[in-house]
Amino acid sequence: MKENKIWLSSPHMGGTEQKFVKEAFDTNWVAPLGANVDGFETDLETYLQEESYVAVLSSGTAAIHLALVLLGVTYGDEVLCQSFTFSASANPITYQGATPIFIDSESDTWNLCPRHLEEAIIDRIKKGKKPKAIVAVHLYGMPYKIEAINAVAQKYEIPIIEDSAEALGSAYKEQKCGTFGDISILSFNGNKIITTSGGGALVTKNSSIKEKAIFLSSQARDNAPHYQHSHIGYNYRMSNICAGIGRGQMEVLDAHVNLRRAMNDFYQGIFNGVVGVSVFKEPTNDFYSNHWLSCILIDKQLTNLSSEHIRLALNEENIESRPLWKPMHLQPIFKDAPYYGDKVAENLFSNGLCLPSGSNLTLKDQDRIEKVFKTIL
Ligand SMILES: *Cc1c(COP(=O)(O)O)cnc(C)c1O
Repeated sequence: MKENKIWLSSPHMGGTEQKFVKEAFDTNWVAPLGANVDGFETDLETYLQEESYVAVLSSGTAAIHLALVLLGVTYGDEVLCQSFTFSASANPITYQGATPIFIDSESDTWNLCPRHLEEAIIDRIKKGKKPKAIVAVHLYGMPYKIEAINAVAQKYEIPIIEDSAEALGSAYKEQKCGTFGDISILSFNGNKIITTSGGGALVTKNSSIKEKAIFLSSQARDNAPHYQHSHIGYNYRMSNICAGIGRGQMEVLDAHVNLRRAMNDFYQGIFNGVVGVSVFKEPTNDFYSNHWLSCILIDKQLTNLSSEHIRLALNEENIESRPLWKPMHLQPIFKDAPYYGDKVAENLFSNGLCLPSGSNLTLKDQDRIEKVFKTIL
């Protein structure tokens, strides 16, 4: 008989979530407003610091969509987007009838390459359209090269949407991820570092942008006794039930970051001295990753193993692992979108693997994982 499944990243409750959910039921605030919504927003604002204003929403995808709306992205516009990411970074660009322009990664942080970003901006301007926004991602929790990306964005005066969906708890030079963008977004999907079962947030430094985000996310209703609308609205607000889960999760966020980072140390230990396998880690001490997922890169020549071989060996023991994100410019749906870069993201996709990284993995789980690697290496 097979042992229990070890997941890549599964929900990990702290214990007080149900107390907040029960309060919502007891007071009958079972709606997308109430004390948990306000409380969760305050918790996040306190956690992020830097004068952050947070609007909690139904998903990270909704937050990216509203960020694009708030930045005025509309039909026919172009938006620069990291290619090496999950599709939710790019899909909302198309909701607005805009075109994503995909950019390669650099090999230190696996995130947006400042050189190709600038190359793309210059070429798009030459072709007649200045891009309206940049979607920059902290993939797997690793902060992107903040200073280099900001310098390019400022030079051409293009706002940044900081996709911090995977990076709550990460930091660059001790400033929290989620506070670097003109607008930033977070996700509380079930597989993320904390979860509300499904949810997201938009983060801004401007309280009136927060108010606008809340207005748009709750059907853009004008101030009138009847239902009157002067804007297109969305049903994107977070429910008071989900926000209750979020308040409980905020109490264990720091502990869960430490546990995910301990999983990364665990893998560093396994592969220390193994020629041809490297565990993804921070390039310098300025970067602090929550290590949402721990990833390895495999050199096929040196190991005689492909990432797929390792994935199947883990799967045989009921242990989940997964290839790295398939770059957007290689996705069938985006095959016609312009792309600027080389093969950095493509090579990562071909040779990388995400390993079980949850904050809830036990020592027994770790032993099972280690045993597979001892056997195949
Ligand atoms: C999860 C994720 C999103 C979307 O968040 P949801 O809450 O699932 O909609 C966006 N970008 C990245 C990089 C993600 O990993």
